[in-house]
Amino acid sequence: MSSAREPSFRESVDLMFNRAVRLMDLSPGLEEKIRVCNATYTVRFGVRLRGQIHTFTGYRSVHSEHMEPVKGGIRYATAVNQDEVEALAALMTYKCALVEAPFGGSKGGLCIDPREWEVHELEQITRRFAYELIKRDLINPSQNVPAPDMGTGEREMAWMADQYARMNTTDINAKACVTGKPLNAGGIAGRVEATGRGVQYALREFFRDSRDIEKAGLSGSLDGKRVIVQGLGNVGYHAAKFLQEEDGCIITGIIERDGALVSAKGLNVEDIRAWIAQHQGVKGYPDATYVENGSAVLEEECDILVPAVLEGVINLDNAANIKARLIIEAANGPVTAGADEILREKGVIIIPDMYANAGGVTVSYFEWVKNLSHIRFGRMQRREEEARNQLLVAELERLSDYMGDTWSMTEDFKKKYLRGAGELELVRSGLDDTMRTAYQSMREIWHSREDVSDLRTAAYLVSIGKVAASYQAKGL
Ligand code: NAD
Repeated sequence: MSSAREPSFRESVDLMFNRAVRLMDLSPGLEEKIRVCNATYTVRFGVRLRGQIHTFTGYRSVHSEHMEPVKGGIRYATAVNQDEVEALAALMTYKCALVEAPFGGSKGGLCIDPREWEVHELEQITRRFAYELIKRDLINPSQNVPAPDMGTGEREMAWMADQYARMNTTDINAKACVTGKPLNAGGIAGRVEATGRGVQYALREFFRDSRDIEKAGLSGSLDGKRVIVQGLGNVGYHAAKFLQEEDGCIITGIIERDGALVSAKGLNVEDIRAWIAQHQGVKGYPDATYVENGSAVLEEECDILVPAVLEGVINLDNAANIKARLIIEAANGPVTAGADEILREKGVIIIPDMYANAGGVTVSYFEWVKNLSHIRFGRMQRREEEARNQLLVAELERLSDYMGDTWSMTEDFKKKYLRGAGELELVRSGLDDTMRTAYQSMREIWHSREDVSDLRTAAYLVSIGKVAASYQAKGL
């Protein structure tokens, strides 16, 4: 973690915000309004477990309500604190604006190590925390819609949604009160993989422009690029898996809680995930070299570094030693403001968190819309689309017959062409479009403005501009 010489996470986000806002023409009043966190609610509640009352501390912070509902994940970790929750809520505001998800920014957290509790105990704790938030409209389909973050997933979201439904028995939109739910509890296909998938789409867009590749001192495509991933949780696992299986990347390092695995010839992500599930860590995995001091592997030679755990892991202590040419911030805030400066001077390109991990909130947006419309995406159109495609194929085959069979379509083409898009295909298409469009808005500024030398500043310029326009439209 970052040393005492560095500002806190929230201060770090503010420093980056200030750097960008200096290049804009906003009134100081509006600048301040956008930067500050509107409100943070702290709750301490007791739950009777194992024969005694345990007190837990939780937070829900609302950074900006320029659009409602506000949105942001709920994190379960022992290190959760007000500063962290506020920083993460601010990032949510900028992230939603950048990818045009119509939400304000929020974030929540509970100080807990989920591994210390049984599932039924976690359910009791989660339901009680949700109860406290629901009572104050801090979970509500039209005001505040949480999602998973570190330490939480589909299971916790299902408990929260059920708790809301129990307390709001006549709310027809109850399911839209949280996103990231399991499919059978109102979730959407493709949400679990969404953040990692978004990281993959972001990298693909980066590699579509030779100017960007050159700026990073790289060449060619994603194929064969050496990648180190920190954290094989929801985000890191999906990003690593897709980059390895679909883009030809070689995963040369995986850093986890108990150390790291390295292998120049590449690590098998699926295998290692299964190993961790069985052994609660990477140690002992047979087909790689184990390194006890995992974070040292952040400094290893590679093309792309994917920090996907926590804030502050690349800081004043190690920034100068980072050898990756490209860092994609899958986690929120992995690079401190001080490290960011060092890396910029070294010419390392950073694809910033507010963009890089926006896949999650993008698909959460689709899930929320699905819940409000009470219908699965593609349900009305899919068979109609297939029937039309079938019509075209039949007509082309008739013409081919007529012309004496001089050409034909391959069976593979026909199979792919004839299949109408289901929910998963539509979600991936919407996510891909969102990731490309948002990247292009940053790229345009990055390449066209002399005073903008990095993607993070470009991202802030786009998103602050959108938030400011929204406040101005309200007459502020
Ligand atoms: P997760 O809980 O699913 O996974 C975290 C992983 O990191 C686990 O495998 C854990 O063992 C590992 N880990 C924990 N401490 C570590 C350490 N000190 N060193 C190395 N590995 C460690 O969490 P997640 O949902 O993948 O979230 C990771 C990051 O991505 C967070 O910063 C979160 O805010 C961000 N994020 C998540 C989502 C989402 O949809 N889940 C969306 C946007 C951003």
